[in-house]
Amino acid sequence: MKKAFLSVLIVTAALLLFSCTLSVTDDTGSRTEAAPETSETIPATQTETGTEARTEKETATEEPSDTETETADSEEATLPGPPEIDYDVNAHLGSNRVLIDAGHGFADPGCTSDFLNGVYESQITYEMASLLANKLAEKGYEPVMLRGEDSFPSISEIRAAVAELGMFSRDDVLNENNIFDAYERTLWGNVIHRRNPVALMISLHINALPSADYVRGTELYYTVDNGCAEPSARLTAFIETKLKTAFPDTRLRTEGCVWNDSFIVTKWTEMPSVLVEMAYATNEDDAKLIFDDGWRDKYVTALAEAIDSYIGTRG
Ligand SMILES: [Zn+2]
Repeated sequence: MKKAFLSVLIVTAALLLFSCTLSVTDDTGSRTEAAPETSETIPATQTETGTEARTEKETATEEPSDTETETADSEEATLPGPPEIDYDVNAHLGSNRVLIDAGHGFADPGCTSDFLNGVYESQITYEMASLLANKLAEKGYEPVMLRGEDSFPSISEIRAAVAELGMFSRDDVLNENNIFDAYERTLWGNVIHRRNPVALMISLHINALPSADYVRGTELYYTVDNGCAEPSARLTAFIETKLKTAFPDTRLRTEGCVWNDSFIVTKWTEMPSVLVEMAYATNEDDAKLIFDDGWRDKYVTALAEAIDSYIGTRG
């Protein structure tokens, strides 16, 4: 988002609403300063958020609106083409660390619907990310959570790490808006990766489409033209296969996105990456599954098996 626009956003204490309404607009929407409902505590694994972590309590100013929007804010999609690849595109090989991005969080609650009874996407993604981390740990991998349940790195910490590591960054896109934006969390993921390589990054989200509440199922997104496009495609294919096997009757769509698409967390990443829109908050049947422990376990098991298969065959 543009700086001037964001200044207004901050000063007016968030009059805009963020919602992952259309999958292609996810992670590019305008943000609200409101906080999600209190989430129950899930034991987290390792979290690399640093010492200057901001907290939800410090940033929450309002209750979230229950209004849904399908308005796309495509400003982040106007970022220029990819910078020259100045990183080792093979650094992920040999790593058994799996970076898990629980979508949204803190001042950005993500989407919700009447079927979620006041629960927001950010809570669900954190819970699913924690379950996935446990599954991966059982398989001998080292899960790394990109954000904590109630903390994330400050812009100054991200800037310092980027400078220390000599990384390219779009400084004009970084904003002190108390939101761990998609670009910021991607940069932080790259910092984690450069310090100690990860095998891949998986970003978990919940979808919403209020105008078509019959739409349900999973959507997978990866980028086809960045430095790790080929392994990202293979990783995504493994996930697609495992989810199809686990949920043969569930709609599953996979899309390979080009650089100009909106999926920041799959295109700016310096490691194989995939974004998983697990289910639709706006579909009543999907919403029931989201709170079903059996479905959750089966879902993260499929993801963990796919990651295990990908890593086992990555060469
Ligand atoms: Zn989302």
